[in-house]
Amino acid sequence: MLHIGCHLSPSGGLAAMGRDALRIGADTFQFFTRNPRGSRAKAIDEADAAALQALQAEHGFWPTVAHAPYTLNPCSSDARVREFAALTMEDDLKRLNQLPCGLYNFHPGSHTGQGIEAGIRLTAALITEMLSCVQSDTVLLIETMSGQGSEIGGTLEQVADLIDRAGGSGRIGVCLDTCHVFAAGYDLKNDLDGVLEQFDRTIGLERLRAVHLNDSMQPCGSHRDRHAPVGKGEIGFEALLAVTRHEALRNLPFVLETPQPDLAGYAAEIATLKGA
Ligand code: FE
Ligand code: FE
Ligand code: ZN
Repeated sequence: MLHIGCHLSPSGGLAAMGRDALRIGADTFQFFTRNPRGSRAKAIDEADAAALQALQAEHGFWPTVAHAPYTLNPCSSDARVREFAALTMEDDLKRLNQLPCGLYNFHPGSHTGQGIEAGIRLTAALITEMLSCVQSDTVLLIETMSGQGSEIGGTLEQVADLIDRAGGSGRIGVCLDTCHVFAAGYDLKNDLDGVLEQFDRTIGLERLRAVHLNDSMQPCGSHRDRHAPVGKGEIGFEALLAVTRHEALRNLPFVLETPQPDLAGYAAEIATLKGA
């Protein structure tokens, strides 16, 4: 059985996200831990968190994914920007202890001219710091990136390097974004097995904990991050369906981050993928 959901807005509260997920046929979902500007987060409402957890247990939800604000940059050349990323992510991890959702996804950042090597060193240092400062069962997920601009994490080797330099803890995992890896030059349309073998050799498939299921408006190797609805992009429906059905991936939570006008759009995408 396919475990799939989409990115949901937390604006109506926590339990409301669980109800939205059920309404669209999802058994997992993703949400931003705070608004993209990364400003102060609301304190977690304990009753609301308990209601979500009860709902998830009752309906057999798969692990949910909390997503850090995408505006954070843990490897900026500006020390204040790095410090802000560190404080925000540590605060998120602490808050997630009150909301056991299992997975905390973040973008490894952009080196802003310092070079890949320096970027990896800075982000690895932040991961190490988070792991030592915050006691948590939440797994940190490094998202694979498209390599747009000065983004790090645009190759599997860079992701492996980040994990190694952060000490290789079992609390570090990876989220594979299909649009990002395709744009980065990994052709999962024509050679999914090959890409996954390469993932296994460089990172290890046991680190892979979630998939962002997105089609790509831009071709393979374009290094441009533009999501498309499933079947409306360069990867195509058949290839994305094959991702959800692959032996090595089928038990992971899949999260749609496709451009859809409303929840009905996600419900249709989910139904199509489940029914195919
Ligand atoms: Fe992301
Ligand atoms: Fe993503
Ligand atoms: Zn993206």
